Amino acid sequence: MIVVMEPEVTEEQISHMVERIRQFGLKPNVIQGAERTVIAAVGKERSDLMDSLARGPGVAAVMPILAPYKLASRELRQESTQVQTQSFRAGCGVCGVIAGPCSVETEEQLMTIARAVKSMGATALRGGAFKPRTSPYSFQGLKEAGLKLLAEARQETGLAIVTEIISTEDVELVAKYADVLQIGARNMQNYRLLEAVGKVEQPVLLKRGPSATMDEFLLAAEYILNEGNAQVMLCERGIRTFEAHTRFTLPLASVPYLHRATHLPVIIDPSHGTGHTYMVPDMAVASVAAGADGLIMEVHPDPENAMSDGYQSLNLEEFSDTMLRCRKIADALGKQFG
Ligand code: PEP
Ligand code: MN
Repeated sequence: MIVVMEPEVTEEQISHMVERIRQFGLKPNVIQGAERTVIAAVGKERSDLMDSLARGPGVAAVMPILAPYKLASRELRQESTQVQTQSFRAGCGVCGVIAGPCSVETEEQLMTIARAVKSMGATALRGGAFKPRTSPYSFQGLKEAGLKLLAEARQETGLAIVTEIISTEDVELVAKYADVLQIGARNMQNYRLLEAVGKVEQPVLLKRGPSATMDEFLLAAEYILNEGNAQVMLCERGIRTFEAHTRFTLPLASVPYLHRATHLPVIIDPSHGTGHTYMVPDMAVASVAAGADGLIMEVHPDPENAMSDGYQSLNLEEFSDTMLRCRKIADALGKQFG
């Protein structure tokens, strides 16, 4: 339920309602809007409580939240959320750019990429240190050594670090180094992991599971928000369909859909979403045109010899061209790019 307070509400009235909501066994979440304060009463919806809460001091109205997700819903929070950390911002007219290799491989590889993408306008550096690979025989990532290289790249370039976390056991370790914790597509429904990253202070980049519906995706975000972490970005990275001309099918209609359903920023991953380098620039441009709040792209100086996902990585020149094209679209739309 949403408890909408009167415009001239007092602190005491807010505290009183927070206490009432708790007494009913619901979780209060106070949201200070530009015009009004609203209090989300999260838990199982109970219509019999609505009348009681509506009679509280300073209450203008009590409304049910119709969506199955509550904290993530636009019904609860009309203003869009901007996620911000270090050099990186996404949402509210800013399209953030996360670029870097699929996997952190060597110091030289990572530093070359970090310097290049920074000079071309990226605002965050991606790089997997813990890799969730389909085959146990594939490269699994450099683990802590990779995290250390990412931290070194941040130290030199100032770029925020985005890296994946694949297990609850690693939360503390990864949170020691990363600025944004990435939850990969394979883990979108790992609910214990979602709860664990809901308790850290860094923003989370939550990727859509390849077979997840939008409601399942938003409910996964809800797990993180429900633990207190309000900085969640939703990443559309393509879904599994009958099509074989792309690695996944990248639905850009997710951008307007999510913008209507939620206040959280929407990031597009045209690298995993297509699985082919030649498709990435056009889909990146299209994502900006569709209103994405950010892009995440795989970039490698030598894609042919990349240890993972080289077939969908842009080389430095291709990334530079893509940035120029995307910026033109962002400029035309009056949005900040990077
Ligand atoms: C990645 O970003 O390298 C990755 C593994 O992505 P996803 O979880 O979307 O497959
Ligand atoms: Mn990858």
